[in-house]
Order: sequence, then C-alpha cells, then structure tokens
Amino acid sequence: MQKQDYYTTLGVPRNATLDAIKAAYRALALKYHPDRNPDNKEAENKFKQAAEAYEVLSDETKRQRYDQFGHPGVDGSQGHGGHGHGMNMDDIFSNFGDIFGDLFGGQQSGRRGRKKTAPTAERGHDLFKEVTLSLKDAYLGCKYEMAFSRYVACTTCDHKGTQPGTTYQTCKECGGLGQKNFAQGFFMVSQTCASCAGNGFTIPSPCKKCSGQSRVREYDTFSVNVPSGIYDGAELRIKGKGDAGIFGGPVGDLIIKVHVATDKQFQRVEDNLVCSVILTYPQLVFGSQVEIASIDGTKETIKIPKGCQVGHEVVIPGKGFNKLRGNARGNLVVKAMCHIPTKLTEPAKEALMTYSAIIGTEPAQSGGSISSFFKKFLG
Ligand SMILES: [Zn+2]
Ligand SMILES: [Zn+2]
Repeated sequence: MQKQDYYTTLGVPRNATLDAIKAAYRALALKYHPDRNPDNKEAENKFKQAAEAYEVLSDETKRQRYDQFGHPGVDGSQGHGGHGHGMNMDDIFSNFGDIFGDLFGGQQSGRRGRKKTAPTAERGHDLFKEVTLSLKDAYLGCKYEMAFSRYVACTTCDHKGTQPGTTYQTCKECGGLGQKNFAQGFFMVSQTCASCAGNGFTIPSPCKKCSGQSRVREYDTFSVNVPSGIYDGAELRIKGKGDAGIFGGPVGDLIIKVHVATDKQFQRVEDNLVCSVILTYPQLVFGSQVEIASIDGTKETIKIPKGCQVGHEVVIPGKGFNKLRGNARGNLVVKAMCHIPTKLTEPAKEALMTYSAIIGTEPAQSGGSISSFFKKFLG
C-alpha cells in the first residue's frame, strides 16, 4: 500500500512553518485521540499516522531528508521501519505526551501521568539480617530471638496517614499530576510539583503518630524457629517480618542469613557429625568398647575393633545432622586417635621398656636424641 504523504496527512502545505505543523498535528491528535474514540481502529490509525508525520516534519533534519528522498529517506528513523503503524501508542505518548498537556484542560492524558488523588499502596522492603549459631544449635534446631527496628503499619490511622475523619486532597497546584507543564519556546517542559513532591495529592491533616507516613519505625522482637540441620550459609525467609508496606501495601519479608560457628570438638562434613575419640595404645591393639558423648550430650557406646588403626572411623548410622529435605539423617562418625602419654609412672615406664625390647626397638634414655629412636626403629 502506498504510504500517504506526510504533508497531506497533516493537511499542511510543503512550505508550512513549524508552528503550522504543530498546530495541525494538535488538531488531528485532539480529533483522533483514543480517549475520545474508544475502540475505534480507524481513529487509532489516523492518530498514529499523524504522530508519525509529526515526528518527521517537526524535526529539521528528518524533514530535509523527507523533502529530498521521500519516505525511503526517513524510514527506519523511528526504529520500527515506519509503515503507517510504525509507532505504537506508548511511543507516541512518551514522545509527544507533552503536546497533549494543554489539549485536555491542562491535564496530561494518555497512558502516562494519570491523575493521582490518593496514595498508591507499595510493598515494604525485604530486610536482611545475619545470625551466628553454635554447631549444637544447628544440629538440634533452636529458637533464635530477633530484635531490630523495622517499619510497622501505623495503627492509629489504620495505615492511611490521615487523621480520623479526614482524607486526601488532590494537589491544587498540579491538579493531581504530580508535575507541572509549562511552555518554553516550542517545547513543553515538565517539572515535579513542589507542593505535593510529585505525589499528586496532599494530606491536609496528617496522622499525628506517623506524620502522614502510614507507618512508623518500631523496635520489634520475636523468635524465629531455626530448623534442625540448618547449615552454614543457609537463608531463611520469614514472611511478613520485613518493612510494612506504604499506605497499606503488603509487608516485606525478613531474610536471615545463617552462619554456623566452628566447634572445638565436633565438625560437620556434609550431613555427618564428625568427632574424635582418644584411645590408649592397648585399647587400639586389643579392641574396646567406649562410651562417648555426642554434641547434644547423648551417650553412645562405640566398638573399637582389635588392631584398630589411628584414623579408623566408627560410623553410627542416623545420628548425624537432620537433612533439611526429607526425613533422613546423616551419620555420627567417630575417628579413633591414640593417646600418647607425656608422663608415666615407674612401673608403666618399666613395662613399656620391656615391651619395646621384646619387639626389638631401643628407645633413647631420657636425655637421648629422638632421632636415634626413629633411626633404630625404622632401620
Ligand atoms: Zn502537586
Ligand atoms: Zn498514622
């Protein structure tokens, strides 16, 4: 389909001044404005065509190219290939919204800058806290007492921000738009309305407790159930414990990042609880039954096999960390270590020397060098 000449579209002569082009476009935009022609496809097309023509003819460079080369000279300049329907409505309102400013009784119309006569409810922020737990608390699960200040909805005004019996007022300065438009040469300039700080409304009698903010900062304390088996670096999301929403918007969440402190005796390896048991040399050689206390204080009897090597692991199934997903648990893993005495009684010393002689080692006497012991033992 042949595209209509832009001058014909706007109904202006080829030598029309910029003022004449602007005036022609305004008249067409007013006539075919979608607010005045709801669900009228033809009007919408005419509205779009007028905007496209105006976009080219109101720009000196584009107009020159158009005069010289016709449509091919400016096609694509709108970024949509421009075939009569090249610009969508949002483009038009965002590019030329200011031209409607004085068409509709000083109120900007269209998709942008709708009138606001009351506040918009907004969701409160999520809050982020870090907590450090002991390994035992992580193993057992615990209640963690949170204490911090956050925004809570103002109950005095029922999060409206107004004094009882009063309400919001559309800003008289900007008519509820939140901005003021004024002409500067050919341009319409928008500026945030100072009287309402761009809100479009004012609160003539603000609630005394929250000063019209609809929420107040309060020190809040509550306990959080930390599940058994929680691991270092886990994040817990507590619904509704973030900042209260503005003007009745939904409450944000609290996100807790969990750190687990290291323990002197126990370690976590995946879902296993790992610890060591220190045994005497004869216990390792002959085997033994020993009782140990787990991290939660419960007693476990473990069986040390005969000829147990240092580092041998005794596994007690199902006594490790709770797996956060499912009902399974890790294991308790006990590593056998050897106790090396630093002081011996005379009879014990004698017995050990005898044993050493029997197996053919010759430990150095006190004052002797350690290296000679190992030389003899290993050589
Ligand atoms: Zn205002
Ligand atoms: Zn209040």
